[in-house]
Amino acid sequence: MNFEIKVKQTIKKYKLLKKSDKVIVAVSGGKDSMTVLYLLKKLGYNMSALHINLEMGKWSEMHLSNIKKFCSELKVPLHVYSVRKELGRSMCSIKSIVKSRAKLQDCTICGILRRWLINKKARQLGADKLATGHNLDDASQTVLMNYFKGNLMIGVNEGPYVGIISDRKFVQRIKPLYFIPEKEVEIYSKKMKFPVIYERCPCVVGAYRHRIRQMLDELGDKKAKENIVKSFLKILPKLRKKVNIHELHYCKSCHEPCRNESCKACLIMSEIR
Ligand code: AMP
Ligand code: ZN
Repeated sequence: MNFEIKVKQTIKKYKLLKKSDKVIVAVSGGKDSMTVLYLLKKLGYNMSALHINLEMGKWSEMHLSNIKKFCSELKVPLHVYSVRKELGRSMCSIKSIVKSRAKLQDCTICGILRRWLINKKARQLGADKLATGHNLDDASQTVLMNYFKGNLMIGVNEGPYVGIISDRKFVQRIKPLYFIPEKEVEIYSKKMKFPVIYERCPCVVGAYRHRIRQMLDELGDKKAKENIVKSFLKILPKLRKKVNIHELHYCKSCHEPCRNESCKACLIMSEIR
């Protein structure tokens, strides 16, 4: 099926967006989020883009320059926030300190801080929805990772529409590429000549997710990723019924929504103070 039609169908079937929604696309500069940016603009949504500059040297500079170029071509307003300005240090510096003290992996630290900043900034910008570039490969890896950790419940917030918890401080996240294999996004993005760097983040090697990705790719079975995700979505309504939404708190330090007294981002940042 045609790539664009498939994305459109996901948006329609899962009611990801209304025409009146103000949608913000979280763009990393990678092929997935740049594709989401292009397609939502093409489909005529009221949108803008948000980028967190991780200040990882040349890597970040090249991404930022591509994002600026693409947003200006598409006439999409862009909001850029710097990790150094928001958190006081570059992502590499934060990671090198926290890694040894808290025994957390690079990608875990970066992911938690990014999600925390993205949610906060999107809310401050008045977004109704926050779109990310997660694709079928990301989704199937996440399901398997949670399975292997012995706790599928960690994934109750997964799915093309993220947000069982309706809270004024949580911006609802949507994933228009949820059913599109990564390879297809790459082919589309290359065909469209999007200004994108195709190498993975230099820090990703060794991450647990990376090992799961290799395992799934080695299987070489195109249908397997789709089956993993579809069977998970079938049991998701049952998992969601078990969640106690009253467990939601506001972090005692930053007042962002979280499940415990302090949010994970504040716990990480407390390691470097
Ligand atoms: P990742 O966790 O790197 O697989 O990224 C997942 C999604 O988060 C991407 O598709 C983007 O939508 C978003 N994202 C990742 N990094 C950034 C960033 N630096 N700034 C804004 N959004 C980001
Ligand atoms: Zn906090």
